[in-house]
Amino acid sequence: MGRKVVKPLFDNPLHVGQLNFPNWEKAEKKFRKIFDNKYYTNHGPMVRELEEKLAEYLGVKHVVAMTNATIGLMIAAKALDVKGQIICPSFTFLATAQSLSWAGAKPFFCDVEIGSHCLDTQKVLDVVENNEIGGILGVHLWGNTCNVEELEKIARQKNIPLYFDAAHAFGCTRNGVKVGSFGSLEVFSFHATKILNAGEGGCVCTNDDFLAKRLRNIRSSYGAGEIVEIPFTGNGRMSEIQAAMALMSLEDIDFNITRNKNVHASYARYLGDIRGLKLLMPSSLDDINNFQYVVIEIDKNDFGMSRDSLVQCLVENNIMAKKYFAPPVHLIYPFYEDSELRTQMNVTNVLSEKLLQLPSGSFVDELCVEKICTLIGSLSSSGIL
Ligand SMILES: *Cc1c(COP(=O)(O)O)cnc(C)c1O
Repeated sequence: MGRKVVKPLFDNPLHVGQLNFPNWEKAEKKFRKIFDNKYYTNHGPMVRELEEKLAEYLGVKHVVAMTNATIGLMIAAKALDVKGQIICPSFTFLATAQSLSWAGAKPFFCDVEIGSHCLDTQKVLDVVENNEIGGILGVHLWGNTCNVEELEKIARQKNIPLYFDAAHAFGCTRNGVKVGSFGSLEVFSFHATKILNAGEGGCVCTNDDFLAKRLRNIRSSYGAGEIVEIPFTGNGRMSEIQAAMALMSLEDIDFNITRNKNVHASYARYLGDIRGLKLLMPSSLDDINNFQYVVIEIDKNDFGMSRDSLVQCLVENNIMAKKYFAPPVHLIYPFYEDSELRTQMNVTNVLSEKLLQLPSGSFVDELCVEKICTLIGSLSSSGIL
């Protein structure tokens, strides 16, 4: 006999992902402007306006808009001319590591810290002392930030570039400074699931004038300002439609961060004290976190159900929980074959087995959170205490 089919808790799927869209009246006006301008791409007026507004918001000198963050990371690696083995975490989205392969370099995977889930700087230090390393690519995970000061020290000592995948950290701060100007450059994603939504989109930020020119030349010669020598060009252009979406989303950024914060607080309230379940809090409570993700940690024995079984139950109820990042990147083809290009991955391996992400973003309100948490409580062995 098959399993009894029951009606899912939600009629429509609730996703992990922000899915912030502007209201239609506003969008219609903005899109009409593109039709009036008759300028659709090639560093158009809306892209230029977006780059200026982002530079002001992020407090960084140059913002180079890109068609998405994956292309942004690939172009960034070429603009920095990274070579050889580049340290990066394995506990990240596949594109972080693959951007290095695209650029002709190799990721050297380093374990992450228990608190922030970002690069473990002690292990980074060990790696640079004992290996030929050409650069460091950090990832600010879940809106937490890497230990930028320590990584900058290591990069300076070894005279290697340091840069960041900041796809999780738009609007976040470290010691009061907005993410966007750390290291040589930082890359943001404006994918629909991220807090700033251009449908597809991204940008690379830097305070370095020469690097900005290289980025603009590789992205395409449009808007380069000045032609500089680069190995080859690609096409990372952002269209006017994407820029219009991003500009509208930027206007809503404070509202959306506050909404996410409230949703996160609701999760904390309704989850209460379930044995074997922990809601992840930002690693620094003094800084701004965008709460782009709601992350929980499951201890199978105490909770009474494995992380994977819990995800399955949630998905059957149209709660489309995710398992980021399982498997971790160092265990994905072709990287698992290079077993010498990694540190011990104890923390990464444990996190990839324990974490899951719950729905958040514009379609999740307090009532949804209450229903999701009641279900999770009923599945646990202790219930909501
Ligand atoms: C989303 C994401 C990317 C890729 O962004 P796209 O704009 O979808 O290409 C890269 N790294 C991390 C950590 C991400 O979350």
